[in-house]
Amino acid sequence: MSHHIPTARTVRELREALEPHRRARRSIGLVPTMGALHEGHLSLIRRAREQCDFVVVSVFVNPSQFDRLADLERYPRQQGLDAERAARAGADLVFAPSVQEVYPDGFATQVQVLGIADRLEGASRGPEHFRGVATVVTKLLLMTLPDVAFFGQKDAQQVLVIRRLVADLNIPVRIEVCPTVREADGLALSSRNAQLSPQERERALGLYAGLSAAAQLFGAGERSAEALLAAAHAAMRSFAVEPEYLELVDPDSLEEVSRLGGPALLAVAARVGPVRLIDNTILDSSDCAAASSYAAPSSSSSSKTRAVNSARKVPACSA
Ligand code: AMP
Repeated sequence: MSHHIPTARTVRELREALEPHRRARRSIGLVPTMGALHEGHLSLIRRAREQCDFVVVSVFVNPSQFDRLADLERYPRQQGLDAERAARAGADLVFAPSVQEVYPDGFATQVQVLGIADRLEGASRGPEHFRGVATVVTKLLLMTLPDVAFFGQKDAQQVLVIRRLVADLNIPVRIEVCPTVREADGLALSSRNAQLSPQERERALGLYAGLSAAAQLFGAGERSAEALLAAAHAAMRSFAVEPEYLELVDPDSLEEVSRLGGPALLAVAARVGPVRLIDNTILDSSDCAAASSYAAPSSSSSSKTRAVNSARKVPACSA
């Protein structure tokens, strides 16, 4: 199999490349990314490959969703390597438009999702962040008109925002969500991890340690949000990581919960050195049987990634 695939730079090139496939009624999958592709992205591409006849990976560092200029400027860019990795994972086409192509002169429309976008990341980063995400994802969906679009559970709130806008704007696409891929020691893969110094890389494990501590207590039967959050805070403190937010919320409405009756989303954001990291897990008692086979996090920070489909889950229950 060749590992060279074409790159479309304009919407016109994208549509021309897709047209014969659409005419032949082949299903089209879209994996939107900001590039610097890692195993998390590749797991989405592989899932798309399994489900769709033609797989498009978009690579676009969207300026409007960055709340800090320094973060945007520092964001890793590696287009040649991305195309190669995307191809190896099974993509058929890379769509890598310029900023001018996505936001031409005179661009004046914004997509804003009310309610859920205001919480967690929205509260922390400001309303521009999800406005930027919602606008660019709407555009990418309408440019590509895929049958299925693939997103990661790592950005749990983003998934909710996208599901909302797709439903509200009647965009004819199915949204498929893939599990978070983690390093062997539990750190969620992120393009920003490359910016961590070795010491910061050790501390970054504090986010996963916090989620794991709460998940283990939950597995032991604790249902008070206060107690679960206290355990998570303590674990994070032992890595010298202070959360920007650490919340237990309803996984659909993102409303805070005080006692866990059904599944709850435990979401965290923290700055480690110059890098802002996020992570989350779902605490769900119906997961317990499956989760009990996962080991507690080890303290080693091997950079080896788990095979995608056995990606480590946060242990939700004690064995
Ligand atoms: P990004 O390039 O960071 O905008 O991410 C593009 C897509 O990859 C989003 O749907 C993310 O949720 C997803 N993603 C990022 N990191 C991971 C990960 N560690 N595991 C699974 N999906 C991920």
